[in-house]
Amino acid sequence: MSSRIEDITDSITGSEVPNGAAAYAEDETEQREEGQETNSKLLHPRPSGFRKEPYYKKLKLEQSTRPASPYTLNPPIDSDGLSWPSIGARQRIDATSDETKGREQRIAAAVKTILSELGEDVSREGLLETPERYARAMLFFTKGYEDNIRDVIKRAVFEEDHDEMVIVKDIEIFSLCEHHLVPFFGNVHIAYIPNKKVLGLSKLARLAEMYSRRFQVQERLTKQIAMALSEILQPKGVAVVIEAKHMCMVSRGVQKTSAVTTTSCMLGCFRTQQKTRDEFLTLLARK
Ligand SMILES: [Zn+2]
Repeated sequence: MSSRIEDITDSITGSEVPNGAAAYAEDETEQREEGQETNSKLLHPRPSGFRKEPYYKKLKLEQSTRPASPYTLNPPIDSDGLSWPSIGARQRIDATSDETKGREQRIAAAVKTILSELGEDVSREGLLETPERYARAMLFFTKGYEDNIRDVIKRAVFEEDHDEMVIVKDIEIFSLCEHHLVPFFGNVHIAYIPNKKVLGLSKLARLAEMYSRRFQVQERLTKQIAMALSEILQPKGVAVVIEAKHMCMVSRGVQKTSAVTTTSCMLGCFRTQQKTRDEFLTLLARK
C-alpha cells in the first residue's frame, strides 16, 4: 500500500504533471493512436498542421515548443476567476439588463432572417415568438461563459487526509457542437486522487456544467474539466471520460443513430501509472 503511494508521489514530481496545460497537446495524439476515439473525426476534421508527431517524441522539449492553442497558452483559471472565457464573456457578464435585452433582440432579428431564408413565414402564429425564444435559449445554452469558477467551487475545497480514488460517474451533460451549433449530450465520469484537498462532490457536476454550457468540441470539454480540476485541487491525478451522442452525427448524412463518441483525458498518476488507470477503468465499467 505505502509503496503504491510512494510511486504515485514520485510520478507527480515529474515535469509533465500536474499543470494540466502540458498534458493537453500530448493527449491529443495519444488518444487517436490508441483508437479510443475515432468516430467524430469525419465530422470534425482537425486543422491541417495540427500536431502530428507522437507526443512521446517531444516529451523532453520546452513547453514553448508546443502548438499555439488558447488552451495551452492560458492557465485554466484567469486571475479574475473566468476560465477560458469567450472574447465577449466579460461584456456579457457586465451587461445591464437593457444591454442584455438589446442582445436578445439582435439575436432574434438574425434568427428571423434564418427562418425566412429557409422559406418560412415568420409571421405565422407558431413562429411569431420563436426568434425571441430561441435567442433566450441560446443565451442559456451558452451561459457557461459567464460562470466564474470561484462561484462554482465556492467554499467547497476541503482539507482531507484521503488519498484513495474519488470517482463520480454518470454526470449528465448537454453541450453544443461548435461546428454545427447542434447539441451533443451524454455522461461525464470524473475521478481524481487527492493530495490533501478534496472538492465537494456536487461541485464536480457544477464544473462539468460550466464547461458544457458553451460551444464545444467533446475533446476540449474533456480536457477543460480535467485541467480545471487539476488546477483547483493540485491532486495526484485526474481522469475524465465523456461518452456522448452528437446530433450532428446521428441526425445528418451518416445517420449512425446509436454512435457514441468516447473521449478521455488522464493527468498525473492516471497518465503515468497503468495500475491507477486500470483501477479507474474497472470502476467505470462496474454498474
Ligand atoms: Zn458537429
